[in-house]
Amino acid sequence: MRKIKVLHMYADMLDLYGDSGNMEILEYRCKMRGIDFQREKYSAGNDMPDLSSYDLIYIGGGADLEQQHISADLMRCREEMIKAYKSGSFLFLICGGYQLMGKYYRDADGNKIPGLGLFDYYTVAPDSRRMRCIGNIVIRTNIAEEPVNVVGFENHGGQTHNVKTPLGEVLCGSGNRSGGKTEGYFEKNVIATYLHGPMLSKNPEIADYMIKYCLKHSGAEEELTPINDALEKKCRSVMLKRLLKQ
Ligand code: GLN
Repeated sequence: MRKIKVLHMYADMLDLYGDSGNMEILEYRCKMRGIDFQREKYSAGNDMPDLSSYDLIYIGGGADLEQQHISADLMRCREEMIKAYKSGSFLFLICGGYQLMGKYYRDADGNKIPGLGLFDYYTVAPDSRRMRCIGNIVIRTNIAEEPVNVVGFENHGGQTHNVKTPLGEVLCGSGNRSGGKTEGYFEKNVIATYLHGPMLSKNPEIADYMIKYCLKHSGAEEELTPINDALEKKCRSVMLKRLLKQ
């Protein structure tokens, strides 16, 4: 039986706007294809697992306070995380998790929370807590077999700069920063994004991109049998119609 090994990090601290739903969606899509989805959790202070042994590592979003709370623990994972990323484990990072893999996140109170520095981007929140990027968002990405409009929800103060390889182009909403045109960060084994929702619920192509990658990483056949995504796509098209006036 094909198997994907997944580590959900800080699920108890970083889980905003349905982020843990992304795990349920991946699990469902694997189950429909007879793929064993082995999900484990890691919380601050736990024994350090061998991060490279996972096909996928997932970190959700959180408020500034939670990000501060896990920051020291995350630093403890730095070498392991770099090893896992370099050896090809997939990193799926939402909002706060996205910010913490960059150089740093300076929060709304001016505290500089160090990131793991895996990537060159950095994030700075405006001084005023009122200036947040909040609302529905649509981005166009080319990572799937065909270009796809991806829909989600964003709520972040942090403005992310110096993103060299974004996940997509913003069609509606803010993305990496207010007034900018790009959203998220992408490499073949990294999807980092501001999209909550949970993000995968209306965007099955993104879920399948990750599942295929993970199967290949695990050494298994990556071919996926199609699933009936009519409902997911209908939900998305309702939102696209509303947001893009399509
Ligand atoms: N606290 C961070 C910010 O406001 C991340 C928020 C989030 O994960 N939604 O930018």
